[in-house]
Amino acid sequence: MRTPLVMGNWKLNGTKESVATLIKGIEGAADAASNVEVAVCPPAIFIEQVANLTANNSIEFGGQDVSTNVSGAFTGETSPVMVKEFGAKYSLVGHSERRQYHNETDAVVAAKFVAIQENGLVPVLCIGETLEERETDKTFAVVEAQLKAVIDVAGIAAIENSVIAYEPVWAIGTGKVATSEQAQEVHAHIRSWLNAQSEVVAEKVQILYGGSVKANSAKELFAQADIDGGLVGGAALIIEEFVGIIEGAK
Ligand code: PEP
Repeated sequence: MRTPLVMGNWKLNGTKESVATLIKGIEGAADAASNVEVAVCPPAIFIEQVANLTANNSIEFGGQDVSTNVSGAFTGETSPVMVKEFGAKYSLVGHSERRQYHNETDAVVAAKFVAIQENGLVPVLCIGETLEERETDKTFAVVEAQLKAVIDVAGIAAIENSVIAYEPVWAIGTGKVATSEQAQEVHAHIRSWLNAQSEVVAEKVQILYGGSVKANSAKELFAQADIDGGLVGGAALIIEEFVGIIEGAK
């Protein structure tokens, strides 16, 4: 049995006050959902605050992006070592907004995946197709290529100590959630594609769905056999929504 994981990606949002209010607002639900792991990925500047606010509750946290370098002359970057030092468990990697706005190629994503693991964090590898790719029946080929780019560098065994987030680009921040059938179809494909390389990895790896998940869609999505939780953007900033999503994973 895979533990359900509900992870909030706060993107470029928050103030010291809203961060405190949000963590206080969700910690009761996170602690009560003892069979669900709850995590948040704040902007890097709030990581220390989140570390302090989560010291006495069950909420885990992670970075949204880290450098492939651990230190040096790389202005503006955040090192995986720094994120780890504050007690983070995870780092997102390959989010479609990083691929789109920061030109992160599959090669960069693979290098970041390795840097994250080498420095003791669990990578949450985001993959997914654009609308055009879906409409031209390329969804499976796209997610396979994105996974293969990482496996070619890190090896299949590395996937066991990672989380995969299937996030169709057309569903991110658009309010257009994939139907549970659409999401399950891709999740099942990802798992069977991994299974052909390693049964152990395919059975163990958590595959999250991301893309406009809300409290009212979470339960049905998470009930699908190959959906092990969610990566949540907009709704992770709204206490009642995120609490509802945690409850949908119980
Ligand atoms: C995300 O940023 O990973 C995401 C899924 O965003 P949203 O839930 O807002 O679509």
